[in-house]
Amino acid sequence: MQNLRRARIAAAMERREEIAANAERLRERVASAAKRAGRRADEITIVAVSKTFPAGAVRAAYEVGFRDFGENRVQEFESKRADLSGLDATWRLIGHLQSNKARRAVEVFDRIDSVDSASLAARLDAAAAERGKRLPVLIEVHLGGEESKSGVDEVGLAALAKEVGALTHLELLGLMTIPPYENDLERVRPYFRKLRELRDGLSERMALKLPALSMGMSHDFEVAIEEGATEIRVGTALFGERTKNTQGV
Ligand SMILES: *Cc1c(COP(=O)(O)O)cnc(C)c1O
Repeated sequence: MQNLRRARIAAAMERREEIAANAERLRERVASAAKRAGRRADEITIVAVSKTFPAGAVRAAYEVGFRDFGENRVQEFESKRADLSGLDATWRLIGHLQSNKARRAVEVFDRIDSVDSASLAARLDAAAAERGKRLPVLIEVHLGGEESKSGVDEVGLAALAKEVGALTHLELLGLMTIPPYENDLERVRPYFRKLRELRDGLSERMALKLPALSMGMSHDFEVAIEEGATEIRVGTALFGERTKNTQGV
């Protein structure tokens, strides 16, 4: 028993050290990408994507300063949540949400970054109203590729933004996208640029600020920062490789 306990503590300490070292490297990469783009690093929020990792890993990231966390499944986060009480963080849902889980999502998350239909928006609005809160949201836009099938397409975006904008218990902050995975990062740049242009266009048409652009993951966030990302969603580069692939679904 003693030995097992010691081994567990050693493993947890090792994980903390690994996360702390990754965090340092990650922040350096963000800072130099920001600098190249003539931006300030503090304009960019790193959302720590903790899906598949245990609550202990989330705490380790919290200890080295992360305050925004992304999870892609309601149920997975519900199961970790008890172990995370007392942390003053913003919990975001970044994966596809089925309308029938909207109420549960509003109970446990502070933000929904993946709104992709009017019916989901209406359910979220009703759930937020019940709880007497205003819920910040992003609209997820699908710009092509097979990696993610969720998100509203470009054609439907304006109508959806209008609907979300009209819901009094939702606060539309901006747009999110998951572009196709490209080894050649120059091939992903047009997707990030496109999201920014869509945001700029909507913002002008709706006379609404829409400050948030959530784009860029571990392998491509530098390009996203160059194209104006205000939030990047980073899992692997902070927590290490995931053993399960659970992207977006
Ligand atoms: C898993 C996930 C990420 C993080 O991916 P990494 O490549 O591990 O950084 C970002 N956004 C969404 C929506 C995800 O599901």
